[in-house]
Amino acid sequence: MQVLVISDIHANLTALEAVLEDARRHLPQASSFESVWCLGDLVGYGPDPNACVQRVRELPGLVCLIGNHDQAALGQIPLARFNREARLVAEWTRHELKKIHRDYLASLPSQAVIDSFTLAHGSPRQPVWEYILDNYTADINFDALTTDYCLIGHSHLPLVFERNGDGPSILHLLLTWEEPLELRPKMILNPGSVGQPRDMDPRASYAILDTEAGLWQLHRVAYDILAVQARILKAGLPERQATRLLAGW
Ligand code: ZN
Repeated sequence: MQVLVISDIHANLTALEAVLEDARRHLPQASSFESVWCLGDLVGYGPDPNACVQRVRELPGLVCLIGNHDQAALGQIPLARFNREARLVAEWTRHELKKIHRDYLASLPSQAVIDSFTLAHGSPRQPVWEYILDNYTADINFDALTTDYCLIGHSHLPLVFERNGDGPSILHLLLTWEEPLELRPKMILNPGSVGQPRDMDPRASYAILDTEAGLWQLHRVAYDILAVQARILKAGLPERQATRLLAGW
């Protein structure tokens, strides 16, 4: 099965459309993906919350998780946990979201298991909040992991952690592979962020997973950032949320 793996769209419709179009070009039959796994944070930061939720809901074979920013937009978590700007956008998003999309986000699980893959926004231990950014955190999450692989988002960084046997985790840093990565049991993989990459590469990030061949291919695609920046400013959202997109942080 060819799976499109996306995460952290953050209400950036232009980036999402660019990813969907680019991903179609990478499929053998240039048709449609059999399945899309979305690892949460559909909204927050960006100007297109309704359009992004709508677009994601239409995707084929969709498995979609809730992220911390989705929970914030639903009022499920105290906004005090966010910095000032993220809080402002969460309040704006809460006001902006149509009921039908709010209800949809509220229906999403925080974790899913599909064959040998565990899906979580943050980590298998704490599906919504924990960031896996270092080997120690990866180690304790490998201990908690009951499947061979775990797909996560949340950090907006395309990282891969690997563990051999009981040994310590190894971090493969910010890799953009020319060739697909061969999956080996005990890996935690992050496709990076569609709508707000933070590895100083402003292009939208996503991955295509071939579950039969056991291959993980990361992709980056440029999109019209200026158009998104204009919509952020027009919506009255913080200017920094616009400038950061161009710098990729
Ligand atoms: Zn996020």
